[in-house]
Amino acid sequence: MDFELSDELKDFRKMVREFALAEFTSEVARKRDFEESYPDDLRIKSLQKGIIDFANPWKTMVAIEELCRVDAGLGISVTVPYFGAEVIMLFGNDSQKEKYLSEVNRGKKMMGLAVTEPGGGSDVAANKTEAVKSGNKYILNGSKMFITNGQIADFFVMLARTSKADPAKKHRGMSTFIVESKFKGFSSNKLEGKLGVRATNTAELILNNVEVPEENLIGEEGKGFYYIMTFFNISRVFVAAQAIGVAQGALDRTLEYLKNNAPSGEMQNEYVQFTLSDMATRIEAARLLMYKAASYLFQFKPNPTITSMAKGYASETAVFASEKAMELTGLYGLSGDLERYFRDAKIMEIWEGTSEVEKLIIARMLEKESDSSE
Ligand SMILES: Cc1cc2nc3c(=O)[nH]c(=O)nc-3n(C[C@H](O)[C@H](O)[C@H](O)COP(=O)(O)OP(=O)(O)OC[C@H]3O[C@@H](n4cnc5c(N)ncnc54)[C@H](O)[C@@H]3O)c2cc1C
Repeated sequence: MDFELSDELKDFRKMVREFALAEFTSEVARKRDFEESYPDDLRIKSLQKGIIDFANPWKTMVAIEELCRVDAGLGISVTVPYFGAEVIMLFGNDSQKEKYLSEVNRGKKMMGLAVTEPGGGSDVAANKTEAVKSGNKYILNGSKMFITNGQIADFFVMLARTSKADPAKKHRGMSTFIVESKFKGFSSNKLEGKLGVRATNTAELILNNVEVPEENLIGEEGKGFYYIMTFFNISRVFVAAQAIGVAQGALDRTLEYLKNNAPSGEMQNEYVQFTLSDMATRIEAARLLMYKAASYLFQFKPNPTITSMAKGYASETAVFASEKAMELTGLYGLSGDLERYFRDAKIMEIWEGTSEVEKLIIARMLEKESDSSE
């Protein structure tokens, strides 16, 4: 058992950190947060630097953590143009990979993943968007809610129902499609006023008789729910990386304040020391869980229990650490960059499975494991 990253990953981490510190300045982060505007210039720069390499998931995980450590709104913005790519990588055909994914990798296009609907996101099997086959096309009707890149993506991996729901097995009869934003009948409304990660673009998508060519069906009809769950098992490791980045960044900035700006003696205060030690311990525990989940996953032996533990615990650690950072830094934190960490942390407990959903997954797997060991 080796807890060290390889030298190559350590060098890569250093390069990403230097990039984030140089580009995600306080001024840029505040402006994008205030204006709720997407930093397309940083997306291009990060691509040119080779920061995003989706063929290498370890690098992706390390990059997400380091970028979010400096600023989560900007960090997620530059890593999310590929959101949903794994669905096409794992289940799409060669021509879909060439037509869509290679364009995203070249920075020419952006994509998104559209699963959540206005009626709720946790119960994916309750999705209502319909796809009805008509000749060599599917006609899609319905709407999607809170979709990242919703107004700026060129296409989406979208979940829709291709046959009537059997109330006992609602997850059956769902399929995934590649839906281009320029298809007739597609429209979107930007959602403004989010609490955090405000540099990311979020929108509602409306599908009004959208004609999707049959070659845009991903994999097999009826397997969509399974494809999306496989995707979440991967993306949850990346959300853990976002959360650990936020928690570590909150700790970095708290230490910087205590050393340079706090009244003398504050670092020796016992409450301050206990709090710092709790923050650091939880961050380390969350990071180890993430490495364990990643190690299983990236060797094609996914362990959903560990993945949910990593995502759930890391996101709660981000909320804990950013709140403690506010407590320890007072007015300095409230009026400086730290308040953004506090706002950005909350989304990690919500997207790609809320904390409650992660706990349900863990409990169900424990029950299953104990049944099989009886
Ligand atoms: C900024 C932002 C970006 C997003 N980006 C995307 C995106 O790109 N693509 C996409 O598809 N979705 C996206 N989402 C949606 C996100 O995944 C959902 O918000 C999330 O899945 C939760 O769904 P919901 O908000 O509808 O809450 P609900 O599912 O309505 O849940 C509400 C509350 O009830 C709890 N709850 C639900 N079911 C249970 C249960 N069985 N037991 C106990 N508690 C339960 C939840 O934990 C939560 O606290 C985004 C959301 C946000 C805020």
